[in-house]
Amino acid sequence: MTQPDIRKSIARFLLSALVTLAVGAGFPTPSPAQEARRTEASYGIDTATLVAAESSPNDWLSYGRTYKEQRFSPLAQINKQTVADLGIAWMHTIGSKRGVQTTPLIVDGVMYATGAWSTVFALDVSTGEPLWDYDPQVPRQTAIKLCCGISNRGAALYQGRIFSGTLDGRLIALDADTGEQLWQTQTVDPEQPYSITGAPRIVKGNVVIGNGGAEFGVRGYISAYSSETGELVWRFYTVPGNPADGFENDVLKLAAETWTGSWWELGGGGTVWDSFVYDPELDLLYIGVGNGSPWNREHRSPGGGDNLFLSSIVALRPDTGEYVWHYQTTPGDTWDFTATQHIMLAELAIGGRVRKVLMQAPKNGFFYLLDRATGELLSAEKFVPTTWASHVDMATGRPVELPGVRYEEKPSVITPTAGGAHNWHPMSFSPEHGLVYIPTREATTIYAQADVYERETGVWRTGTGSSAISPIAFLSLPEPTGYLLAWDPVRQEERWRSDHEGADSGGTLATAGDLVFQGTPAGFLNAFDAGTGAQLWQHYVGAMVAPPITFAVGGKQYLTVVSGLGGLASNRSRPPGSPESRSRVIAFSLGAKGKALEQAPSRMPRVSAIDSSATADQINAGARTFNQYCGSCHRGESDGNIIADLRISSAQVFDRYQDIVLGGARLDRGMPSFKDYLSPQDVANIRAYILQARRLLVSMQGAADGL
Ligand code: CA
Repeated sequence: MTQPDIRKSIARFLLSALVTLAVGAGFPTPSPAQEARRTEASYGIDTATLVAAESSPNDWLSYGRTYKEQRFSPLAQINKQTVADLGIAWMHTIGSKRGVQTTPLIVDGVMYATGAWSTVFALDVSTGEPLWDYDPQVPRQTAIKLCCGISNRGAALYQGRIFSGTLDGRLIALDADTGEQLWQTQTVDPEQPYSITGAPRIVKGNVVIGNGGAEFGVRGYISAYSSETGELVWRFYTVPGNPADGFENDVLKLAAETWTGSWWELGGGGTVWDSFVYDPELDLLYIGVGNGSPWNREHRSPGGGDNLFLSSIVALRPDTGEYVWHYQTTPGDTWDFTATQHIMLAELAIGGRVRKVLMQAPKNGFFYLLDRATGELLSAEKFVPTTWASHVDMATGRPVELPGVRYEEKPSVITPTAGGAHNWHPMSFSPEHGLVYIPTREATTIYAQADVYERETGVWRTGTGSSAISPIAFLSLPEPTGYLLAWDPVRQEERWRSDHEGADSGGTLATAGDLVFQGTPAGFLNAFDAGTGAQLWQHYVGAMVAPPITFAVGGKQYLTVVSGLGGLASNRSRPPGSPESRSRVIAFSLGAKGKALEQAPSRMPRVSAIDSSATADQINAGARTFNQYCGSCHRGESDGNIIADLRISSAQVFDRYQDIVLGGARLDRGMPSFKDYLSPQDVANIRAYILQARRLLVSMQGAADGL
């Protein structure tokens, strides 16, 4: 062994001793033969293997399992008859309780997954033994430019290399066997508020990666890098830049005709932060484009316009990034109705003819079916109640908006919300039942013109959120709800649904065992009959919204979930510091008897009022500042977009407000320092506002007791 090898094996040993909770097993060292097999397996993953992933049923080779991204596994050892016999095979504790959105990859018995702060790790899937761990050392203050937590959704695998993005915009290539860094490349201007939380995809030997940051003022794009060298191959911008600089291509010149004003000063938005799907049959790459910067079109493009390619699905040539077609789900978006959500490919019989289709259930609440060769709209129907548009006009392909929904003259109550009828949580599809399983949210909020709108890059600015709307107005909105929806995409209608506690509905998995699996924010992993929705099994896993996956090794089928909070999750149901708030990889198999987690109570804690002597003016000023700087993460009233519900913080936290907000005392948990933006007086005002909101909560809890 060389020096680094020895260091690595010591580190491995310490790591496994510290963090693995291997059930009924020690910490076996892989034999040289096993090591060689692994090397061969991961090196063998090339374009041909990825295209033919359907014939590797035991593995999970890419983000959506195959290029169709249906998240349907042909494995059936775990099925309707046997599922009741599932038990815990092993658990591996990751640490941070937040940032868990990952879909692990599996190749020949090895799992590759990502964690909070863009970490990457490998495990042996038959024992849960850690193989390696990689930390890209993301500067913690990066969290100041993150919309929704310190999350990462997964990695990509190609020819013995693991690729993943980092919050600070790097794309990293690691040796799949050792976790050693092979190269890294900065994919964004580090001076700009871009971030990466999405999983890269491999397309013909290139690594395709997008980014986020529209709320902070950036210009969206997607890029392809050589998997070999990390060099840029192509880049496609989703929105036009400053016309004075000339356009990158003719299609952006045409797109610029759908914009007005000086949109480029704040980037325009249109980030591609989640879904990009390669279609080897048609040799097209479909990308889902996000909202504008800012949300409010009045500020972004004051003369109106569709603002292409915001909130659109765009098809590109995978070799060059050249535009082929697009379909815009929300023309002139003004609500953060992104079309970044899961894009899934399938062949469906429609009108007596088998069509190659693309499916998406974006934030705006409509389920879209497109012909993926041409972009032709085949159908679009509401999968949740929508109050912003009555229907999609099939003659024009455009939504028919209802009066007043653009909140230009006065505030408008809108369903769904910026949190989406469906967000990043992956859907799944059972070809056997012809059903799509959508993690669905129903929520309502109030959109209003911002009191003051300052064009400022690097700060959350949406051009919405008036402090004239009292917190009581938000509190009187219906509580958001979440459910698993089985949707027939051909008939465009609901087949069944299953309600669950908490609005942040988890990612789903469908299997040939006639099952659908889904986790809930209250911490349960559920299995349903894929055809009827009957619940067949449930297991407490702590907290969970990341999508489960399944695979087989040594003839045994496993189900794994990475449990933890996925970014949009609340401290309401998980007491901070409780063991349940830790994140873990949990593996299930038939007949396994590992010890289950102890179930923690899941409810809103009771709080009592904390005295404060603030004036009404201070509270109002605090409300305005909170809306501008804190609400994007901490506003819990309507969106479920809560990293922590500040009203229920402990008294000690209220004592430490200056330290936490200005001093960076919670930096490691993803709470950045706002010392460059806020004064001690601002912080005192925010505290006064939160204490006022707490008093309201206390009186509501008291009123509820009287019922
Ligand atoms: Ca957004």
